Amino acid sequence: MLKMRNLSRVYRTETIETTALDGIDLDIADGEFVAIMGPSGCGKSTLLNILGMLDSPTSGSYSFDGIEVAGLPEAKLADIRKHNLGFIFQSFNLVDELSIRENIELALLYHDVSAAERRRRADEVMDKVGIAHRARHRPNQLSGGQQQRVAVARALIARPRLILADEPTGNLDTQHGEEVMKMLQALNREGATIVMVTHSPSHADYAGRLFNMLDGRILQERRRAA
Ligand code: ADP
Ligand code: MG
Repeated sequence: MLKMRNLSRVYRTETIETTALDGIDLDIADGEFVAIMGPSGCGKSTLLNILGMLDSPTSGSYSFDGIEVAGLPEAKLADIRKHNLGFIFQSFNLVDELSIRENIELALLYHDVSAAERRRRADEVMDKVGIAHRARHRPNQLSGGQQQRVAVARALIARPRLILADEPTGNLDTQHGEEVMKMLQALNREGATIVMVTHSPSHADYAGRLFNMLDGRILQERRRAA
């Protein structure tokens, strides 16, 4: 599904140059569950943003389904994102002025989907993550664990093939973190490809493959024994 070759990302300001990614080679196949670990500042979020086509590499190649995305115009990238990708972040990024249902339906706004179908799909994903009874609530009326479930539902409503999760359990207590991991595991078993950044070794154990990063490079890779 994904292939990166000698990919680098350098942030330049007037005074300093930061090499956030330094020669990344990475292959991820359809249906994999990959975890990425490493100290703060080593480039994990930068890597996820580039995988998600929210940012572009400074050099090197990134192909998605065999299509080189590095030079594509923003409209085309947006189209690929819309049809293939779902994002889950550490902070839940919900809109406080909207209900849970509206937050979730918002993710289908630029899709060619009727209002009735949006509603049906919102019901389906709210059921799936166990928040259907909170549909009319506002995000700030929910616990952190529930808010992250809403964020997962929002990522799922467009039926992405690839889910990118940046420390999805970072703001959650042990129990709610575990619940989110169980949801990701279930999604992966249903066929979604998942790439997740985490600081938790036990959460990384849910993945079939683990990368450790340091200073913008992939240091080592571990595959879980089947
Ligand atoms: P991680 O997610 O592993 O903590 P990041 O990918 O966020 O690391 O950051 C990698 C490096 O790039 C860090 O040194 C960070 O300071 C730098 N960096 C990240 N985003 C920017 C930016 N927008 N402008 C300048 N430097 C950045
Ligand atoms: Mg980060």
